[in-house]
Amino acid sequence: MDTFATLSRLCQAHGVSGNEGEIRELIRSLAAPYADDIQDDVMGNLIVHKRGNGPKLMMASHMDSIGLIATHIDEKGMVQFGCVGGFDASDLVNQLFRFQNGTYAVCNMPADKSIDKCKIKDLYLDVGAKDQDEAKSMVKVGDTAAYVSPLKMLGKNRITGCYLDNRLGCLALLQTLEQVKNPANDLYFVFTTQEEVGLRGAQTSAFAIDPDYGLAIDVTLPDDLPGSSHISTSALGKGAAIKVMDYSIICHKDFVEKLNALAKQHDILVQPDIMYGGGTDAGVIHTTRCGVVSGGISFPARYVHSAVETCDLTDLDACVKLMTVLCETELEAV
Ligand SMILES: [Zn+2]
Repeated sequence: MDTFATLSRLCQAHGVSGNEGEIRELIRSLAAPYADDIQDDVMGNLIVHKRGNGPKLMMASHMDSIGLIATHIDEKGMVQFGCVGGFDASDLVNQLFRFQNGTYAVCNMPADKSIDKCKIKDLYLDVGAKDQDEAKSMVKVGDTAAYVSPLKMLGKNRITGCYLDNRLGCLALLQTLEQVKNPANDLYFVFTTQEEVGLRGAQTSAFAIDPDYGLAIDVTLPDDLPGSSHISTSALGKGAAIKVMDYSIICHKDFVEKLNALAKQHDILVQPDIMYGGGTDAGVIHTTRCGVVSGGISFPARYVHSAVETCDLTDLDACVKLMTVLCETELEAV
């Protein structure tokens, strides 16, 4: 499947945590030609199965995104909101959003505030209504809104736009599913829900699948920007980042070694991913039931949780190659 066109569609589909129906149905249609079986569950996870004889390998990529939820509509027709997932006020001001029903909204701050003193609770969404009644006809309390920021090439090999966290991970899973010809393990490609609010979908899907091995595919923070504080290790364009640890997991040593050995054997560009903060679905997969041998493959992403997240396609390519090789190499029974 075409990288840029498919990723554009994935990034634009609505899927604020807890409200993933639209993105789930898009992924279902993209996965269907390559899957043996596709199920969804109570939490809204999409579980795509490709059968193989070896141990069960669960690869999880969250499909939900951060977003805003309307909480109040005032007399002027401005919409107050809460955050679903982590935002910084400076990422929100002067940004365009879209509610799932198609209503656009501009986020801004009161005229008497400055951005450095502004808290998220001070901000509002302007939907272009002339008064409260008109605004109420456009948006209901509880409706969710997502960034609008079309995917663009940045330089020769980089991309920028909203929700590369984690629609780029979803694309990597889909491309791996497409490319695996001889599955040597029993493969579960899981598109999880509610990661951004606490890894919730991965928790229930891991319990249901009961995998031998777990792998989370997600973004990681790079250490390659001006003023970088070295709380992470990766850099854009240096390959698939093999997770060693983040705030949610210390990856299983043998699995980290296995991923590095496969990369070496198949000449795939990789780099270590250590991050003092943040977490991924692997954080809950590895403590499921009696424990699951788990790790992660990450893409370094700049400006995470803003409307201009930026990644390098070299890293996507390396990630898909490494996952494909992993799927076609029989893992040891656990
Ligand atoms: Zn993420």
